Amino acid sequence: MKTIGLIGGMSWESTQEYYRIINEETKRILGGFHSAKCVLYSVDFAEIEKLQHEDRWEELTGIMIHAAQSLENAGAEFILICTNTMHKMADEVQNSIHVPLLHLVDTTGEQIRKAGLKKVGLLGTKFTMEQDFYKGRLSDMFGLEVLIPDFEEREIIHHVIYQELCLGKINQASKEKFIRIITNLINNGAEGIILGCTEIPLLVKQKDIPVSIYDTTEIHARSAVNYALG
Ligand code: GLU
Repeated sequence: MKTIGLIGGMSWESTQEYYRIINEETKRILGGFHSAKCVLYSVDFAEIEKLQHEDRWEELTGIMIHAAQSLENAGAEFILICTNTMHKMADEVQNSIHVPLLHLVDTTGEQIRKAGLKKVGLLGTKFTMEQDFYKGRLSDMFGLEVLIPDFEEREIIHHVIYQELCLGKINQASKEKFIRIITNLINNGAEGIILGCTEIPLLVKQKDIPVSIYDTTEIHARSAVNYALG
């Protein structure tokens, strides 16, 4: 069993989901008293969120590199960045360590490709929905057409992620807004929906949505176990 390195705390609410899923999956596969070998580097999300909204991505890259190197020094045999948004600097992180980075977009794209979908809707932070590091990778490496919500809807999603979900607040009215936005994406041709922010699965579940959802927290965490167990 390989030791998993987790860069977490973005937010801790979703990192505890990673920890739960990784251990449940390890136990499901190996049985008995088995649990996952892992090391967690958990950041102070207040620092991260402030730098993100001040557009200070170089400093954020430095923080992610430091976290990844610390995990490698602590014995991690591969690394996960436990957030979609911070995959913006995934290449720089990978280039600064000697162990593999298990890329969240690749684990998600792989699942969607296996399901044979061509057109998917993407929900996430504005950084994730609007910039190319995420959509571009899905289209270049997995041949997917990625639909995103309109400007006003993106504002709503971003606001709910930072002002509610990352503060541990689960709000029914916000859930209804998310479902309306997802319905619009489906009406525009989305065959599946990527929950491209590790907190969205706390709000929206498969039973709420008539097409397949791709829960990036769940997919990334389960892929980590598969990788760890070879
Ligand atoms: N966890 C979120 C994501 O998956 C947002 C928090 C962050 O900015 O890292 O994108």
